[in-house]
Amino acid sequence: MALLVSFLDGEQVRAANVDRFPEACPLCEAPRAPRFIAAIVRVAHVRQICFQCTSVDCRSLFIGNYQEEAKARYRLVDCEPRRAPCPGS
Ligand SMILES: [Zn+2]
Repeated sequence: MALLVSFLDGEQVRAANVDRFPEACPLCEAPRAPRFIAAIVRVAHVRQICFQCTSVDCRSLFIGNYQEEAKARYRLVDCEPRRAPCPGS
């Protein structure tokens, strides 16, 4: 299901569809729908959406990276940051 998002591009706003929002937080991995915060045009064919984790124990911001797959259609490719594993684990 495509979601229509307004991306900030300098002073302009450009609407585009994305395939989905992340289903989990990349930091705490809580399987909760995150809250939309903001969306930007990063460079040509790459857009970023800032989300907030809705787990009360985390509430961290993170970014979803989207790549263009067709005109005004973007696909979620990954989320960042990821917490580095503890040494020795
Ligand atoms: Zn989280």
